[in-house]
Amino acid sequence: MTITNEAHHVKRQKSHSDGFGTRAIHVGSEPSAETGAVIPAISLSTTYKQDAVGVHKGFEYSRSGNPNRDALESTLASLESGGAHALAFSSGSATTATVLQSLGPNAHVVSVNDVYGGTFRYMRRVASETQGLETTFVDLEKADDETVLASFQDNTKLIWIESPTNPTLRLVDIPRVVSLARSHPSRPLVVVDNTFLSPYYSSPLLQGADMVVHSLTKYINGHSDVVMGAAILPSHHSQLAAKLRFLQNAHGAVPSPYDSWLAQRGAKTLHLRMKAHGTNALQVAQALERSPYVEEVIYPGLASHPKHALAYRSLSPHAKKFVDSLRSTVDADGVSQDSEGGFPYGGMVSFRIRGGAIEANKFLTAARLFTLAESLGGVESLAELPSQMTHGSIPETERAILGIGDNLIRLSVGVEEAEDLVHDVEQALEFAVGGDEKLTNGSR
Ligand SMILES: *Cc1c(COP(=O)(O)O)cnc(C)c1O
Repeated sequence: MTITNEAHHVKRQKSHSDGFGTRAIHVGSEPSAETGAVIPAISLSTTYKQDAVGVHKGFEYSRSGNPNRDALESTLASLESGGAHALAFSSGSATTATVLQSLGPNAHVVSVNDVYGGTFRYMRRVASETQGLETTFVDLEKADDETVLASFQDNTKLIWIESPTNPTLRLVDIPRVVSLARSHPSRPLVVVDNTFLSPYYSSPLLQGADMVVHSLTKYINGHSDVVMGAAILPSHHSQLAAKLRFLQNAHGAVPSPYDSWLAQRGAKTLHLRMKAHGTNALQVAQALERSPYVEEVIYPGLASHPKHALAYRSLSPHAKKFVDSLRSTVDADGVSQDSEGGFPYGGMVSFRIRGGAIEANKFLTAARLFTLAESLGGVESLAELPSQMTHGSIPETERAILGIGDNLIRLSVGVEEAEDLVHDVEQALEFAVGGDEKLTNGSR
């Protein structure tokens, strides 16, 4: 009897030292005390009975809070290592808008220069008008410390980082930017949009960032069937979290219970999917590097990437463990899984195809498994042409500065079988670039 009770007691404790995958599956997903259901029920009710005025079970009205959103938020707070508070919003863009609105009037923000297009639009065309927000865009990858510090003003309240950036996968050294921010009297908050790497590969809060934001639409939900976003903050920012919580309710840009439930289900396999995205992306990137039809491959996990060492240094503790385990397998067996010195680093790969827009277009329509579509982070592989799709609204001269030419193709490598994806990329390249050569040779 005693043993059973003790076992029961131990089982109920959710240890803080549980690993990433364990937390993904268990935190926020405790079996129902009422029915024993192992999977949380979807709670669609918009309102909640009160036993007396103001006496309730923690829920009053579904915009302010509901069981499914609460459950997802606790999963997210646990997954983003170093996090304690999580707030879910109806999109990544609503998250960004709320974070920037919390700065109040006439604030100044320093942002990485090739920030996500929607973030750029909100800073430049919405917040500038509605709250007098001023933004300075800085190449946070290349700029030296003096240049970054020179961009700070007395009213600089926030630094916005994305790493890697989209679609050219430049890396920002987060601890460096954090220490520059801490050294400045205006004490700006450091916010990292961690959408591309997900909490699996990167833990910006452990690197000193004040807040992480995500488009859950991408890797965290992972199945291309929910639009949602979230902000996650460490325990010492409970005041800021309360302010965002107030705005979340005041704006009402909240996710539905059903979407929250789906995103939580997706998050439970984040660790499995991200490992597969990473190993597949590495193999696709290596195949692209071998191809005579490719000018340049951009993947931070490749030894050829200029910030390869920073990529390794920036891995989350759990991703580092995974990456190191691949390397030791290689060493022990003498199998050259990793002979080129690469390692998995997320699922996004960009490359410049030999030729221009025509070849790029041919590649994109010839691929069988890589669907031509915007967005990223789902289990299925996608491919797109940033210059005309995701980044089409950027003026051509600015695109040129950012390195977004007509031959730059962005891949979101899914979790299909790696050899099928490699084969697909090779046949599409052969068709797009090799095809003409063959015709010419044949006619000679
Ligand atoms: C998609 C995306 C967003 C915006 O998220 P939505 O859910 O589409 O509103 C923000 N940042 C990055 C890096 C993204 O990829």
